[in-house]
Amino acid sequence: MRGKLSRIGVATLVGLAIGTQGVLAIALPGCAEGFLGAGGFLNTVGDGLNSVGSCLSPLEPIDLNLVFEKTSVIEWENGSAVIDDAAQPDVLAYLEEQLGQDVMPVYYLPLRFHRIGPLTRGEVIQIEALSDVVDRVALYDAEYTRVPAGGVHDLDGRRRTLQIPITRDTQAGYIRIDLQYPSTTNEPMVRLARLGFAAPPAPRGQTVVLHFGGAELVTFRSGYLIPAQVGAIDDDAARTAATEAFRTVYAPYSMTIVTDVDPPPTAPFSVIHIGPTDLDAYSLGQAETIDTRNAYPDDIAVVDANQIALEIARLFGPETYGRAIGMIAAHEMGHLLGLEHVADADALMTGAQCQGSGVDIERLLRRQLKRAPLIAFSSELKRWVIGYQDARAELLETLGPAGIPAP
Ligand SMILES: [Zn+2]
Repeated sequence: MRGKLSRIGVATLVGLAIGTQGVLAIALPGCAEGFLGAGGFLNTVGDGLNSVGSCLSPLEPIDLNLVFEKTSVIEWENGSAVIDDAAQPDVLAYLEEQLGQDVMPVYYLPLRFHRIGPLTRGEVIQIEALSDVVDRVALYDAEYTRVPAGGVHDLDGRRRTLQIPITRDTQAGYIRIDLQYPSTTNEPMVRLARLGFAAPPAPRGQTVVLHFGGAELVTFRSGYLIPAQVGAIDDDAARTAATEAFRTVYAPYSMTIVTDVDPPPTAPFSVIHIGPTDLDAYSLGQAETIDTRNAYPDDIAVVDANQIALEIARLFGPETYGRAIGMIAAHEMGHLLGLEHVADADALMTGAQCQGSGVDIERLLRRQLKRAPLIAFSSELKRWVIGYQDARAELLETLGPAGIPAP
């Protein structure tokens, strides 16, 4: 384990992780075919050292929230509106000005923003992708806080229609559309429809198994098979500390948490495999997907206890080590409940990148679920934030408060 530390410097590890995230975050032109098969892979959430493990000095993010104001309100007609992929010169000019010349336009050309007017609590907005160029969509309220929305791809194939319940009144709603690749055909790409009012979806409690016992052939539903094999964590003190750290994070919400030594719970349940393994790209953990509104209550994630930040935590003893792996498991669980990466290095869902190197275990252990700026894109030297994610509010809507038993 120490060999690993000395053989590859920490700075190299961070650089590699950042490079990988950059590649995962963008859609390459001409890759439409590849995307059809690779959607699941691209939805997989890898967490490098830059994401969770070490962040002594986070990079200052570039705030792009005013991009929402650079576009006009779309026209509704009989409760329906169509958005095409026409270029948005004002949006583009703003992004060019804010991001500077060292960011290639290909990174921001696939982003589109539209104002869609006031939204009312209880109404349902349907978003239908009319073109394969549409990769992901998200709605935001007047404070630029994300309304849980999600991708148009899903785990089982290609979901092309989303129905999004609006949970807060807002004077200005916005839609962000991420294209698979830059495209300006002026053809329709998204149809919005106001479906009227409906009772909001009831919160649904979640059961999760923290699996420390080791597993063979751990495979994500997309077919992504990394890692194939996860070893066991045999240290009882570490297992107990990990479970307690995880429980503390999710204590306010309706969640039943068991481990692999308990009797198997009633299905459905998610499983987080925690143990030494060989995740790619120096990732501390990987979640199967960002599972919007917990559509899949039986998804999986992996925490790699072999990673360097965790090896360093282990030097502080089994309790610190256990709490650290528990916090990473809690971060991966956040993805399985629909949460994305935020720029705040003190947020549990941080995807913050760091200047220099170092491992701040105390900071990792203190991370919390909170409202924080969403990361729209990361590159080696730049981190952009667009909109906010209110993690606690989202989890309360998705899971309900503690006390509601899991089904
Ligand atoms: Zn993550």
